[in-house]
Amino acid sequence: MDLIVQKFGGTSLSDENSRRHVLRHIVRENEAGSRLVVVVSAMGRSGEPYATDSLLELIRTNGNALPAREKDLLLSCGELISATLLCSILQAEGIPSVVLTGGQAGIITDNRFGSARITEIKTERIHKLISDGFVVIVTGFQGMTPDGEMTTLGRGGSDTSATALGAALNADIVDIYTDVDGILTADPRWVSDARPLSTVSYEEICNMAQNGAKVIHPRAVEIAMKASIPVRVRSTFSEGEGTLVTNAHALRSQGIWFDKTVTGLAHVRGVTQLGVTNNNGPSDVQLRVFRAMATHGISVDFINVMPSGVVYTVSETDTSLAMELLQGLGFEPNVRRGCAKVSVIGGGMNGEPGVMAVIVEALTNSGIPILQSADSNTTIWVLLSEEDLAEALQALHTAFGLHLTPN
Ligand code: ADP
Ligand code: ASP
Ligand code: MG
Repeated sequence: MDLIVQKFGGTSLSDENSRRHVLRHIVRENEAGSRLVVVVSAMGRSGEPYATDSLLELIRTNGNALPAREKDLLLSCGELISATLLCSILQAEGIPSVVLTGGQAGIITDNRFGSARITEIKTERIHKLISDGFVVIVTGFQGMTPDGEMTTLGRGGSDTSATALGAALNADIVDIYTDVDGILTADPRWVSDARPLSTVSYEEICNMAQNGAKVIHPRAVEIAMKASIPVRVRSTFSEGEGTLVTNAHALRSQGIWFDKTVTGLAHVRGVTQLGVTNNNGPSDVQLRVFRAMATHGISVDFINVMPSGVVYTVSETDTSLAMELLQGLGFEPNVRRGCAKVSVIGGGMNGEPGVMAVIVEALTNSGIPILQSADSNTTIWVLLSEEDLAEALQALHTAFGLHLTPN
């Protein structure tokens, strides 16, 4: 008997109609005889009554004044509401089901409220319930410290709950149900002809997720990869097979050789470029700048160190603090807000000539300036103005023929 972890995201649970689709997937696997653990997110997206963002909105009028511990208690309500509602739907269909909070499901975390890490999963209770014939519904995105405090795992953390449970239970597969047909060659909200990929390696999707493709949380992929648990990203609203995420070796053994030069695009908005000029001859400018950023927990990217100074990026949310720090050190930084980072990703681009040439040509032909670039074995990053983002993504998608990608 297979053991399947199914995870349903916010949009899959937002209204009566979508919850009927969720029910259909549970019934199908249940009737096929699989043992089921169902992980749920809070219902809906920002603006909808019980969504995580709407819970956060409740305290905004108080200037968000709430200690981190209590904030996690507030945030964990969203998943509890959707889990109990789903339980009621299953009961009405005559399907025996039980709801467990993260803590009740045995998910133990450290005490970093708001971004807790899972340290252990005690599976006895879930094992007992599934062997007694229950569908076990677990509230995603949360766990409990060893001394019983409720924690949350960071935004998008239900994916992590699902793969961590999959790994701990040694599930046959983790099915991540969402509102798109799988992992696409780019975010379909930005590239209208993005196409679903039938297979990707853990490494490739991890890379896409770390670079902004929020279809699955990067930590969730890392956990699945370590445990070699296959993950399928698929649509709640269809019967499509979606995208299978597994290791390159497993795919090669099925004759699927997928180290494509370019697999897909990802992007991150809300990036600020900072430039600091070293006007005073040789100095320790670089050291002082990066030490100040590190001391204040500001994550830096696109780092370019030159004898004349440094250029790097920070997130929009860290911009004011970064500027204050630089001014405090006596620098007058050049600040360019409103940038976006575009990542061109492919497991097979290493040693393949001409990838950067295609990028430069596509962007130049569209009149889009590249503000900075960087590269690794599997990714080329370019920094652009956010105003150019939509056109840049579309141009690059077309230039690499991703709209034609054979699946
Ligand atoms: P859920 O509520 O199901 O967790 P998310 O909003 O977190 O859903 O993730 C699904 C969204 O991820 C899609 O609606 C899509 O806009 C976005 N997305 C970004 N990049 C990609 C990609 N490469 N493939 C598929 N979806 C993507
Ligand atoms: N509800 C949480 C969030 O919105 C967790 C998740 O959706 O994965 O971040
Ligand atoms: Mg999500």
